[in-house]
Amino acid sequence: MKLQNYINGALLAPTSGKYLDNFEPATGKVYSYCPDSDERDVQLAVEAAKAAFESWRNTDLEERMMILMRMADGIEKRMDEFVTAESRDNGKPLKLARAVDIPRAVSNFRFYASAIQHFASESHQMPGVAINYTLRQPVGIAGCISPWNLPLYLFTWKIAPALATGNCVVAKPSEVTPYTAYLLSEVCIAAGLPKGVLNIVHGLGSKVGQAIVEHSDIKVISFTGGTETGKRIAATAAPMFKKISLELGGKNPTLVFADCDFEATVKQVVTASFSNQGEICLCGSRIFVERSIYEKFRDAFVARVLQLKVGDPNEETSNLGAIVSAPHQQKILSYIQLAQEEGGKILCGGKEVKLEGRCNEGYFIQPTVIEGLDFLCRTQQEEIFGPVTTLTPFETEEEALTMANSVKYGLAASVWTNDLKRAHCIAEKLEVGIVWINCWLLRDLRTPFGGVKSSGVGREGGWEALRFFTEPKNVCIKQ
Ligand code: NAP
Repeated sequence: MKLQNYINGALLAPTSGKYLDNFEPATGKVYSYCPDSDERDVQLAVEAAKAAFESWRNTDLEERMMILMRMADGIEKRMDEFVTAESRDNGKPLKLARAVDIPRAVSNFRFYASAIQHFASESHQMPGVAINYTLRQPVGIAGCISPWNLPLYLFTWKIAPALATGNCVVAKPSEVTPYTAYLLSEVCIAAGLPKGVLNIVHGLGSKVGQAIVEHSDIKVISFTGGTETGKRIAATAAPMFKKISLELGGKNPTLVFADCDFEATVKQVVTASFSNQGEICLCGSRIFVERSIYEKFRDAFVARVLQLKVGDPNEETSNLGAIVSAPHQQKILSYIQLAQEEGGKILCGGKEVKLEGRCNEGYFIQPTVIEGLDFLCRTQQEEIFGPVTTLTPFETEEEALTMANSVKYGLAASVWTNDLKRAHCIAEKLEVGIVWINCWLLRDLRTPFGGVKSSGVGREGGWEALRFFTEPKNVCIKQ
């Protein structure tokens, strides 16, 4: 199967005529081909977006809403196809794609279709002198670039608010997981999205992604991916004075206090550590446990992790599927090796998993728990982005906070305690953009989403995204 770009309302082969191999991580085999597009395809997409912009920005809000709703319906109608494609492309368990990824893509379109109906801007009165009102106008052409871990979920999280606010979009999914973005092109055509409003250009970050960021007609960039890539994007976009939103890496702390609900905490901290093979930017990858319950927590945690089944993503009993690619699998294994060199003790896991049958060449790793590491060592400071977590005891709240805040990242944290006063106090002092108390990844799409420090710039979600994709213009009228 050769996937195609979606430009000016049509499915097109890349100008180069070349394709990249698309691997199924669970089998290690090539199963489709992704367009190897370049700046010529990005140019075609920008021209289509420019031609569509005036009409789209002036399209009645209700009409825009109806089109986005039809896009949501279109994905929902083909749920099984989307779920299978997402699991096959990424390696995640089929049941996770069915429960989380694809329903969330549907919700992203419905949420912003409805939000744009209620979006309002401010007015400021100078009594007896003048009245100011703020226009919120679409920025123009938006570049949306997304990663491979939650492919359609994050792709649509950017596209939906950009389109709802009247922008036209040139978007690039990760070349590692292009399939559901391709299916989305078919949905857009069926939903009657006017041509040129959304353009999807597949290919490598170094070619297509870079060409989007460098293009002078693309005025706003929304990017989710690694911190190093974000740095490069910021360096290119800043001298061009583009608006940028960067959602980057994380090394999230999980703080477990002795007064937590023990059983529920163990269960949920396992989920927070190993969902999607630990390949979620929000996964808790450093667990700090109050000394008085450290051994008890460690033993219960490890016992539960040992029950997780690594297996064929198609099997309902699999808790963890395949790692997204062979290079990423090697990167994770090299960190497990590093952890041992740094003095860490592997409590469980630590090895590649070799499955029998159709998955015998797939990329699998055991869920891995490590203890005995200094909180400042590389294993505890650098993002691994896999099924690996560390356990470290702490004595006091201050020490827990010092360790939690010691990394360059600042995306999310979870805190497990029944002491309300402590929970508020710690939430205030954690250097992150998102704090979950006695829960993890509980998402309300209206809330601001994003990180501080090297985890990013700007916020997505709710009004934040609608503000980001619009330019405020103040109009002052003298009375
Ligand atoms: P990545 O390598 O930074 O890639 C992200 C996207 O950027 C891909 O589409 C990639 O294309 C593209 N890209 C690469 N180089 C580019 C360039 N020079 N200019 C423009 N685009 C370029 O990240 P990843 O490995 O796909 O994803 C994992 C990372 O994403 C982790 O660090 C994770 O924490 C982070 N993440 C953050 C969030 C959040 O909300 N904060 C959410 C999910 C993931 P290619 O695929 O061709 O390289």
